[in-house]
Amino acid sequence: MISNSINDLKSEMIAWRHHIHAHPETAFEEVKTTQFIIEKLQSFGITQLYTDFAPTGVVGVIKGNKEGRWIALRADIDALDIIEENNINYCSTISGKMHGCGHDGHTAILLGTAKYLSEHRDFSGTVVVIFQPAEENEGGAQVMVENGLFDRFPIEAVYGIHNQPNMQLNHFYINHGPMMASYDVFEIKITGIGAHAAAPHLGKDTILTATQIVNGLQSIVSRNADPLSSLVVSVTQIHSGDTWNVLPQHAVIRGTVRAFSAQVQDMAESRIKQIATGIATTFEVKAEVDYQRRYPATINHAKQAKIAMTAAKKIVGEDHLIIDHNPSMGAEDFAFMLQKIPGAYVWLGAGSGANLHNPAFNFNDEVLTTGVSYFIAVVNQELAS
Ligand SMILES: [Zn+2]
Ligand SMILES: [Zn+2]
Repeated sequence: MISNSINDLKSEMIAWRHHIHAHPETAFEEVKTTQFIIEKLQSFGITQLYTDFAPTGVVGVIKGNKEGRWIALRADIDALDIIEENNINYCSTISGKMHGCGHDGHTAILLGTAKYLSEHRDFSGTVVVIFQPAEENEGGAQVMVENGLFDRFPIEAVYGIHNQPNMQLNHFYINHGPMMASYDVFEIKITGIGAHAAAPHLGKDTILTATQIVNGLQSIVSRNADPLSSLVVSVTQIHSGDTWNVLPQHAVIRGTVRAFSAQVQDMAESRIKQIATGIATTFEVKAEVDYQRRYPATINHAKQAKIAMTAAKKIVGEDHLIIDHNPSMGAEDFAFMLQKIPGAYVWLGAGSGANLHNPAFNFNDEVLTTGVSYFIAVVNQELAS
Protein backbone atom coordinates (compact mmCIF):
# COMPACT_ATOMS: atom_id res chain seq x y z
CA MET A 1 0.00 0.00 0.00
CA ILE A 2 1.10 3.52 -0.74
CA SER A 3 0.56 5.87 2.21
CA ASN A 4 -1.29 9.19 1.90
CA SER A 5 1.82 11.16 2.78
CA ILE A 6 3.69 9.55 -0.14
CA ASN A 7 0.75 10.14 -2.50
CA ASP A 8 0.93 13.80 -1.47
CA LEU A 9 4.39 13.94 -3.09
CA LYS A 10 3.13 12.75 -6.46
CA SER A 11 2.38 16.04 -8.22
CA GLU A 12 5.66 17.55 -7.02
CA MET A 13 7.61 14.50 -8.20
CA ILE A 14 5.95 14.65 -11.62
CA ALA A 15 6.99 18.31 -11.91
CA TRP A 16 10.62 17.43 -11.01
CA ARG A 17 10.60 14.50 -13.44
CA HIS A 18 9.30 16.63 -16.30
CA HIS A 19 11.85 19.37 -15.57
CA ILE A 20 14.71 16.83 -15.65
CA HIS A 21 13.24 15.22 -18.78
CA ALA A 22 13.23 18.58 -20.59
CA HIS A 23 16.89 19.20 -19.65
CA PRO A 24 18.78 15.95 -20.35
CA GLU A 25 22.54 15.76 -19.81
CA THR A 26 24.81 12.82 -20.68
CA ALA A 27 27.71 11.12 -18.87
CA PHE A 28 29.73 13.39 -16.56
CA GLU A 29 28.08 16.48 -18.02
CA GLU A 30 25.09 16.39 -15.63
CA VAL A 31 25.99 19.82 -14.21
CA LYS A 32 22.55 21.43 -14.23
CA THR A 33 20.88 18.16 -13.20
CA THR A 34 23.25 17.92 -10.21
CA GLN A 35 22.56 21.58 -9.32
CA PHE A 36 18.80 20.92 -9.50
CA ILE A 37 19.15 17.89 -7.18
CA ILE A 38 21.31 19.84 -4.70
CA GLU A 39 18.79 22.71 -4.56
CA LYS A 40 15.97 20.25 -3.90
CA LEU A 41 17.90 18.35 -1.21
CA GLN A 42 18.80 21.63 0.53
CA SER A 43 15.17 22.75 0.39
CA PHE A 44 14.25 19.48 2.18
CA GLY A 45 16.71 20.40 4.95
CA ILE A 46 19.36 17.88 3.86
CA THR A 47 22.61 19.78 4.28
CA GLN A 48 25.22 17.03 4.49
CA LEU A 49 25.99 16.85 0.75
CA TYR A 50 29.10 15.56 -1.07
CA THR A 51 30.02 16.25 -4.68
CA ASP A 52 33.61 14.96 -4.68
CA PHE A 53 33.00 11.30 -5.58
CA ALA A 54 32.63 12.02 -9.31
CA PRO A 55 32.84 15.03 -11.64
CA THR A 56 29.04 15.30 -11.43
CA GLY A 57 26.38 13.77 -9.20
CA VAL A 58 25.80 14.25 -5.48
CA VAL A 59 25.56 12.15 -2.33
CA GLY A 60 23.33 13.20 0.57
CA VAL A 61 23.32 11.92 4.16
CA ILE A 62 20.03 11.68 6.09
CA LYS A 63 20.24 10.81 9.80
CA GLY A 64 17.41 9.06 11.60
CA ASN A 65 16.23 10.02 15.10
CA LYS A 66 18.30 7.22 16.63
CA GLU A 67 21.81 5.95 15.98
CA GLY A 68 22.15 2.77 13.96
CA ARG A 69 23.46 1.14 10.81
CA TRP A 70 24.10 2.89 7.49
CA ILE A 71 22.43 1.93 4.20
CA ALA A 72 22.34 3.60 0.78
CA LEU A 73 19.76 4.15 -1.96
CA ARG A 74 20.96 4.86 -5.49
CA ALA A 75 19.52 6.58 -8.56
CA ASP A 76 21.28 7.15 -11.89
CA ILE A 77 20.80 10.65 -13.32
CA ASP A 78 22.22 10.64 -16.88
CA ALA A 79 20.53 10.83 -20.29
CA LEU A 80 21.40 9.34 -23.70
CA ASP A 81 22.50 10.58 -27.13
CA ILE A 82 19.13 10.05 -28.80
CA ILE A 83 16.93 12.50 -30.74
CA GLU A 84 13.62 12.45 -28.87
CA GLU A 85 10.50 11.63 -30.89
CA ASN A 86 7.86 12.26 -28.22
CA ASN A 87 5.12 14.82 -28.65
CA ILE A 88 4.89 16.05 -25.05
CA ASN A 89 5.02 19.55 -23.58
CA TYR A 90 8.17 18.71 -21.60
CA CYS A 91 10.10 17.24 -24.55
CA SER A 92 13.92 17.45 -24.52
CA THR A 93 15.11 21.01 -25.08
CA ILE A 94 18.63 19.81 -25.93
CA SER A 95 19.00 18.57 -29.48
CA GLY A 96 20.29 15.01 -29.73
CA LYS A 97 19.98 14.30 -25.98
CA MET A 98 17.14 12.50 -24.31
CA HIS A 99 16.14 10.75 -21.11
CA GLY A 100 15.59 7.51 -23.02
CA CYS A 101 16.24 5.12 -20.12
CA GLY A 102 14.02 6.70 -17.46
CA HIS A 103 16.83 7.98 -15.24
CA ASP A 104 14.75 11.19 -14.97
CA GLY A 105 12.16 9.03 -13.18
CA HIS A 106 14.78 7.29 -11.00
CA THR A 107 16.06 10.72 -9.95
CA ALA A 108 12.54 11.93 -9.10
CA ILE A 109 11.90 8.74 -7.08
CA LEU A 110 15.06 9.23 -5.02
CA LEU A 111 14.30 12.94 -4.52
CA GLY A 112 10.80 12.05 -3.31
CA THR A 113 12.31 9.43 -0.99
CA ALA A 114 14.82 11.95 0.37
CA LYS A 115 12.07 14.49 1.04
CA TYR A 116 9.93 11.90 2.82
CA LEU A 117 12.85 10.62 4.94
CA SER A 118 13.94 14.12 5.92
CA GLU A 119 10.40 14.77 7.19
CA HIS A 120 9.96 11.32 8.79
CA ARG A 121 13.16 10.52 10.66
CA ASP A 122 11.61 7.71 12.67
CA PHE A 123 14.35 5.22 11.81
CA SER A 124 17.51 4.09 13.59
CA GLY A 125 20.58 4.85 11.56
CA THR A 126 21.60 6.74 8.47
CA VAL A 127 20.36 6.68 4.87
CA VAL A 128 22.78 7.81 2.17
CA VAL A 129 21.10 8.91 -1.08
CA ILE A 130 23.41 8.43 -4.07
CA PHE A 131 22.62 10.45 -7.22
CA GLN A 132 25.06 8.74 -9.57
CA PRO A 133 26.18 10.18 -12.92
CA ALA A 134 27.14 8.39 -16.13
CA GLU A 135 25.42 5.02 -15.86
CA GLU A 136 25.31 4.74 -19.66
CA ASN A 137 28.68 3.62 -21.14
CA GLU A 138 31.00 5.52 -18.79
CA GLY A 139 30.65 3.62 -15.50
CA GLY A 140 29.89 6.47 -13.10
CA ALA A 141 29.26 3.92 -10.35
CA GLN A 142 32.81 2.60 -10.73
CA VAL A 143 34.19 6.15 -10.44
CA MET A 144 32.24 6.78 -7.23
CA VAL A 145 33.33 3.44 -5.74
CA GLU A 146 36.98 4.06 -6.66
CA ASN A 147 36.78 7.52 -5.11
CA GLY A 148 35.88 5.94 -1.79
CA LEU A 149 32.10 6.22 -1.56
CA PHE A 150 31.92 3.05 0.54
CA ASP A 151 35.18 3.76 2.40
CA ARG A 152 34.21 7.21 3.71
CA PHE A 153 30.80 6.05 4.95
CA PRO A 154 30.21 2.72 6.79
CA ILE A 155 27.40 1.75 4.38
CA GLU A 156 26.37 -1.88 4.88
CA ALA A 157 23.95 -2.32 1.97
CA VAL A 158 22.94 -0.51 -1.21
CA TYR A 159 19.64 -0.65 -3.12
CA GLY A 160 18.74 0.42 -6.66
CA ILE A 161 15.65 0.43 -8.92
CA HIS A 162 15.26 0.41 -12.69
CA ASN A 163 11.95 0.99 -14.46
CA GLN A 164 11.08 -1.60 -17.11
CA PRO A 165 8.56 -0.84 -19.85
CA ASN A 166 6.57 -3.82 -21.10
CA MET A 167 6.82 -5.52 -17.75
CA GLN A 168 3.60 -5.52 -15.73
CA LEU A 169 2.70 -2.12 -14.29
CA ASN A 170 3.69 -1.65 -10.65
CA HIS A 171 5.01 -5.18 -10.32
CA PHE A 172 8.43 -5.79 -8.80
CA TYR A 173 10.86 -8.26 -10.38
CA ILE A 174 13.54 -9.39 -7.95
CA ASN A 175 16.10 -12.19 -8.28
CA HIS A 176 18.12 -13.87 -5.55
CA GLY A 177 21.18 -13.75 -7.83
CA PRO A 178 21.93 -12.45 -11.35
CA MET A 179 19.82 -9.53 -12.69
CA MET A 180 21.99 -8.20 -15.52
CA ALA A 181 24.95 -9.59 -17.48
CA SER A 182 28.54 -8.41 -17.69
CA TYR A 183 29.42 -6.13 -20.59
CA ASP A 184 32.73 -6.57 -22.44
CA VAL A 185 33.85 -5.22 -25.81
CA PHE A 186 36.43 -6.52 -28.27
CA GLU A 187 38.23 -5.20 -31.32
CA ILE A 188 40.10 -7.36 -33.83
CA LYS A 189 42.54 -5.52 -36.12
CA ILE A 190 43.47 -7.51 -39.20
CA THR A 191 46.47 -6.52 -41.27
CA GLY A 192 47.23 -8.19 -44.61
CA ILE A 193 48.76 -7.06 -47.87
CA GLY A 194 46.66 -4.80 -50.06
CA ALA A 195 46.48 -5.67 -53.72
CA HIS A 196 44.71 -5.07 -57.02
CA ALA A 197 41.36 -6.84 -56.87
CA ALA A 198 42.17 -8.41 -60.24
CA ALA A 199 45.38 -9.88 -58.83
CA PRO A 200 44.40 -11.36 -55.46
CA HIS A 201 47.35 -13.78 -55.56
CA LEU A 202 49.67 -10.80 -54.99
CA GLY A 203 47.95 -9.80 -51.74
CA LYS A 204 46.89 -11.28 -48.39
CA ASP A 205 43.14 -10.75 -48.11
CA THR A 206 41.80 -9.17 -44.90
CA ILE A 207 38.11 -9.27 -45.90
CA LEU A 208 38.08 -13.02 -46.52
CA THR A 209 39.84 -13.48 -43.18
CA ALA A 210 37.38 -11.19 -41.37
CA THR A 211 34.36 -13.15 -42.59
CA GLN A 212 35.95 -16.45 -41.50
CA ILE A 213 36.69 -14.97 -38.07
CA VAL A 214 33.07 -13.81 -37.71
CA ASN A 215 31.92 -17.34 -38.54
CA GLY A 216 34.49 -18.85 -36.18
CA LEU A 217 33.35 -16.65 -33.29
CA GLN A 218 29.89 -18.21 -33.51
CA SER A 219 31.38 -21.49 -32.29
CA ILE A 220 32.16 -20.00 -28.86
CA VAL A 221 28.53 -19.93 -27.75
CA SER A 222 27.53 -23.08 -29.65
CA ARG A 223 30.57 -25.26 -28.90
CA ASN A 224 32.60 -23.85 -25.99
CA ALA A 225 29.97 -22.55 -23.56
CA ASP A 226 28.06 -24.94 -21.32
CA PRO A 227 24.55 -25.02 -22.84
CA LEU A 228 23.13 -24.29 -19.38
CA SER A 229 25.21 -21.13 -18.85
CA SER A 230 24.34 -17.89 -20.62
CA LEU A 231 26.67 -16.21 -23.09
CA VAL A 232 26.28 -13.76 -25.97
CA VAL A 233 29.06 -13.06 -28.50
CA SER A 234 27.83 -10.44 -30.99
CA VAL A 235 29.84 -8.94 -33.83
CA THR A 236 28.45 -5.44 -34.31
CA GLN A 237 30.89 -3.77 -36.73
CA ILE A 238 33.09 -4.71 -39.69
CA HIS A 239 35.05 -1.93 -41.36
CA SER A 240 37.17 -2.48 -44.43
CA GLY A 241 37.68 -1.23 -47.93
CA ASP A 242 36.87 1.96 -49.82
CA THR A 243 36.32 1.00 -53.44
CA TRP A 244 35.57 -1.80 -55.96
CA ASN A 245 38.95 -2.74 -57.31
CA VAL A 246 41.21 -2.85 -54.24
CA LEU A 247 41.69 -5.68 -51.77
CA PRO A 248 42.15 -3.60 -48.60
CA GLN A 249 45.20 -4.01 -46.41
CA HIS A 250 43.24 -3.49 -43.17
CA ALA A 251 40.00 -4.73 -41.65
CA VAL A 252 38.51 -4.16 -38.20
CA ILE A 253 35.90 -6.28 -36.42
CA ARG A 254 34.22 -5.05 -33.24
CA GLY A 255 31.66 -6.62 -30.97
CA THR A 256 30.44 -7.32 -27.46
CA VAL A 257 30.34 -10.23 -25.02
CA ARG A 258 27.67 -10.71 -22.31
CA ALA A 259 27.83 -13.29 -19.52
CA PHE A 260 26.96 -13.88 -15.86
CA SER A 261 30.21 -15.32 -14.52
CA ALA A 262 33.89 -14.46 -14.63
CA GLN A 263 34.74 -18.02 -15.77
CA VAL A 264 32.53 -17.70 -18.84
CA GLN A 265 34.02 -14.24 -19.52
CA ASP A 266 37.57 -15.67 -19.25
CA MET A 267 36.66 -18.49 -21.65
CA ALA A 268 35.10 -16.12 -24.19
CA GLU A 269 38.10 -13.79 -24.09
CA SER A 270 40.65 -16.55 -24.61
CA ARG A 271 38.61 -18.23 -27.37
CA ILE A 272 38.13 -14.93 -29.25
CA LYS A 273 41.91 -14.45 -29.18
CA GLN A 274 42.64 -18.05 -30.28
CA ILE A 275 40.07 -18.05 -33.08
CA ALA A 276 41.08 -14.64 -34.44
CA THR A 277 44.82 -15.27 -34.40
CA GLY A 278 44.44 -18.88 -35.56
CA ILE A 279 42.32 -18.00 -38.58
CA ALA A 280 44.59 -15.06 -39.37
CA THR A 281 47.58 -17.41 -39.41
CA THR A 282 45.71 -19.76 -41.75
CA PHE A 283 45.11 -16.88 -44.19
CA GLU A 284 48.66 -15.48 -43.79
CA VAL A 285 47.58 -12.19 -42.25
CA LYS A 286 48.00 -10.72 -38.76
CA ALA A 287 45.23 -10.28 -36.18
CA GLU A 288 45.56 -8.25 -32.97
CA VAL A 289 42.80 -8.61 -30.39
CA ASP A 290 41.96 -5.93 -27.82
CA TYR A 291 39.50 -7.26 -25.21
CA GLN A 292 38.14 -4.84 -22.61
CA ARG A 293 35.98 -5.58 -19.59
CA ARG A 294 33.52 -2.73 -19.11
CA TYR A 295 30.82 -3.67 -16.54
CA PRO A 296 30.74 -6.79 -14.37
CA ALA A 297 27.51 -8.77 -13.99
CA THR A 298 24.87 -7.27 -11.67
CA ILE A 299 24.31 -10.00 -9.10
CA ASN A 300 22.03 -9.48 -6.11
CA HIS A 301 23.15 -10.64 -2.69
CA ALA A 302 20.65 -13.18 -1.35
CA LYS A 303 20.08 -11.53 2.05
CA GLN A 304 19.43 -8.06 0.60
CA ALA A 305 17.31 -9.57 -2.20
CA LYS A 306 15.09 -11.08 0.52
CA ILE A 307 14.84 -7.67 2.26
CA ALA A 308 13.89 -6.14 -1.11
CA MET A 309 11.25 -8.85 -1.64
CA THR A 310 9.73 -8.27 1.79
CA ALA A 311 9.66 -4.51 1.17
CA ALA A 312 8.10 -4.92 -2.31
CA LYS A 313 5.48 -7.33 -0.95
CA LYS A 314 4.41 -4.74 1.62
CA ILE A 315 3.87 -2.14 -1.11
CA VAL A 316 2.34 -4.03 -4.02
CA GLY A 317 1.30 -7.35 -2.47
CA GLU A 318 2.55 -10.86 -3.10
CA ASP A 319 0.68 -11.15 -6.43
CA HIS A 320 2.65 -8.18 -7.82
CA LEU A 321 6.05 -9.59 -6.83
CA ILE A 322 7.84 -11.76 -9.39
CA ILE A 323 10.76 -13.68 -7.95
CA ASP A 324 13.65 -15.09 -10.02
CA HIS A 325 12.43 -13.85 -13.40
CA ASN A 326 14.87 -14.43 -16.29
CA PRO A 327 17.79 -12.01 -15.92
CA SER A 328 18.66 -9.63 -18.76
CA MET A 329 21.74 -9.90 -21.01
CA GLY A 330 21.91 -6.08 -20.85
CA ALA A 331 24.30 -4.47 -18.37
CA GLU A 332 24.17 -1.96 -15.53
CA ASP A 333 27.00 -0.22 -13.70
CA PHE A 334 25.28 -0.72 -10.32
CA ALA A 335 27.27 -3.97 -10.60
CA PHE A 336 30.37 -2.09 -9.35
CA MET A 337 28.52 -1.12 -6.16
CA LEU A 338 27.35 -4.72 -5.65
CA GLN A 339 30.94 -5.93 -6.07
CA LYS A 340 32.01 -3.64 -3.22
CA ILE A 341 29.17 -4.09 -0.72
CA PRO A 342 26.01 -6.23 -0.47
CA GLY A 343 22.78 -4.99 -1.97
CA ALA A 344 19.92 -5.58 -4.36
CA TYR A 345 18.79 -4.18 -7.69
CA VAL A 346 15.15 -4.52 -8.69
CA TRP A 347 13.03 -3.90 -11.75
CA LEU A 348 9.82 -1.94 -11.42
CA GLY A 349 7.37 -2.83 -14.21
CA ALA A 350 6.12 0.25 -16.05
CA GLY A 351 3.42 -1.29 -18.25
CA SER A 352 3.15 -1.11 -22.03
CA GLY A 353 5.03 1.56 -23.96
CA ALA A 354 8.15 2.15 -26.04
CA ASN A 355 11.19 0.21 -24.88
CA LEU A 356 14.24 1.64 -23.12
CA HIS A 357 16.61 3.57 -25.46
CA ASN A 358 13.85 4.01 -28.07
CA PRO A 359 13.28 7.64 -29.27
CA ALA A 360 9.62 7.33 -28.24
CA PHE A 361 10.34 6.04 -24.73
CA ASN A 362 8.96 8.06 -21.83
CA PHE A 363 9.12 7.16 -18.13
CA ASN A 364 5.69 6.23 -16.74
CA ASP A 365 4.81 8.68 -13.93
CA GLU A 366 2.40 6.07 -12.52
CA VAL A 367 5.35 4.23 -10.91
CA LEU A 368 6.89 7.24 -9.10
CA THR A 369 5.06 6.75 -5.80
CA THR A 370 5.52 2.96 -6.01
CA GLY A 371 9.27 3.55 -6.23
CA VAL A 372 9.31 5.90 -3.23
CA SER A 373 7.13 3.53 -1.17
CA TYR A 374 9.49 0.66 -1.98
CA PHE A 375 12.60 2.61 -0.92
CA ILE A 376 10.88 3.70 2.32
CA ALA A 377 9.86 0.08 2.98
CA VAL A 378 13.50 -0.99 2.46
CA VAL A 379 14.63 1.65 4.99
CA ASN A 380 11.99 0.41 7.45
CA GLN A 381 13.17 -3.19 6.94
CA GLU A 382 16.83 -2.32 7.38
CA LEU A 383 16.66 0.41 10.04
CA ALA A 384 13.55 -0.37 12.08
CA SER A 385 13.67 1.69 15.27
ZN1 LIG B 1 20.00 2.68 -20.44
ZN1 LIG C 1 19.00 2.82 -17.40
